Amino acid sequence: MSHDPNCIFCKIVLGQIPSRKLHEDDELIAFHDIHPWAPVHFLLVPKLHIPSMAQVGPEHAALLGRMMTLAPQLAFREGCRPYPEGGFRMVVNTGADGGQEVPHLHLHVFGGPRPWLKG
Ligand code: 5GP
Ligand code: ZN
Repeated sequence: MSHDPNCIFCKIVLGQIPSRKLHEDDELIAFHDIHPWAPVHFLLVPKLHIPSMAQVGPEHAALLGRMMTLAPQLAFREGCRPYPEGGFRMVVNTGADGGQEVPHLHLHVFGGPRPWLKG
């Protein structure tokens, strides 16, 4: 598994920085965002250091599929209300113009009552 020693999310993957983990398996880790924007806000992160969606290729299709199918399970487990009244938002910021701050691919999952989405 390839890691970047200077990457904050690689350090979380390796247990060198603490995090509030809500899921871990051989390929993926999920932890609560340190500055939550919503009542439910966690990050789903591949353990492999992929800088962003800009570096994704066909070899990552299965991994990305796992992220997209695991996220709803975790979202509902973390307290998002059932679809369609409830639900959640999934966001992948990519590059500076996309608002990405941490250069290790991650899926934001936001949920809960949503005054934060209005205005
Ligand atoms: P980005 O803007 O790159 O899509 O989002 C990065 C997210 O990572 C931000 O929401 C930020 O709060 C979160 N974050 C940055 N550093 C840490 C950290 O050390 N621990 C946790 N749990 N979240 C972090
Ligand atoms: Zn990394």
